[in-house]
Amino acid sequence: MGPPGAGKGTQAKYIAEHFGIPAISTGDIFRANVSDGTPLGVEAKRYMDAGEYVPDEVTNRMVRNRIDEPDAAEGFLLDGYPRTLAQVEELDGMIKFTGHQLDAVLSLVVDKDEVVSRLLQRAQIEGRADDTEDVIRRRQEVYLDQTEPLIQVYKERSLLVEVDGLGEVEEVTKRIFDALDVVPES
Ligand code: ADP
Repeated sequence: MGPPGAGKGTQAKYIAEHFGIPAISTGDIFRANVSDGTPLGVEAKRYMDAGEYVPDEVTNRMVRNRIDEPDAAEGFLLDGYPRTLAQVEELDGMIKFTGHQLDAVLSLVVDKDEVVSRLLQRAQIEGRADDTEDVIRRRQEVYLDQTEPLIQVYKERSLLVEVDGLGEVEEVTKRIFDALDVVPES
């Protein structure tokens, strides 16, 4: 977890690689559907371009299908999901059904101004449609309103692992591995 621009996607790849599990990014799946022009992509694009969340039932169905894939049988890392309280409940139901359990909820703690400037920089490099200044602001608001409360929920479940997300990518990865008590291979 972490606000837009916290570096979730970047760190997710390293963690998933370490554990030999897929990193499942809802944002990436949505973007792939948008570029393929699928019905899901057409629907999701309207919300994404405005910085709003895609409706829960659409997102939930997509995650449910994804974690049913064979490569996720032994475990998976979710990046960008759950993002609403309804998604938390839905995820609980899904993994109860598949027989998985949550080992940890990792929260990348970052400074708000710093992440906005990261996102503006990324906008120039990657040209993501939702990386314009107005949309970035809206995404931050939506995060604070709908997703930040989830941190408390997972704290109460004793699953929350908070890591300082500021600094070099490798430095943050090291903090994550330390916090998760894993020894990186390289
Ligand atoms: P960010 O950099 O904002 O974390 P992501 O790539 O994770 O971006 O997500 C991009 C967009 O995809 C979000 O702004 C939202 O519209 C949509 N999205 C991703 N995950 C979810 C989710 N769990 N629920 C609803 N919408 C989502």
